[in-house]
Amino acid sequence: MIEHARREHPMECCGLLYGSRELIDGIRLARNQKQSNREFSVSPKDLLEFFKELRANGKNHLGVYHSHPSSEPHPSAQDVIEFHYPEVSYWIISLEKYKPRVRCFHWVEKSFQGVAFNVVEK
Ligand SMILES: [Zn+2]
Repeated sequence: MIEHARREHPMECCGLLYGSRELIDGIRLARNQKQSNREFSVSPKDLLEFFKELRANGKNHLGVYHSHPSSEPHPSAQDVIEFHYPEVSYWIISLEKYKPRVRCFHWVEKSFQGVAFNVVEK
């Protein structure tokens, strides 16, 4: 996710995450349909292909991510308005500071709540 965010900088990147149960072990980079440095929208074609792949490999959709090229890793007002994925985790990669920051959120009772996560080695 960090690599993708760096590659698309100064535009926002976006993508989808999959896995089994609570373990995310797959990533699908998507095109940001908006080509913007302030908002994102996963291209419908990428979304369609992603769900086809999930069906084919028996994985579950577990997350969606996007980057904030120059702001903090917190959902923006625009993110809240355009939020479409209440069942999955919501990741933001911030490149605001020299060291990238990654935060994970769940949608709970109509707002984003930050949640802790662990990174496991393969
Ligand atoms: Zn955002």
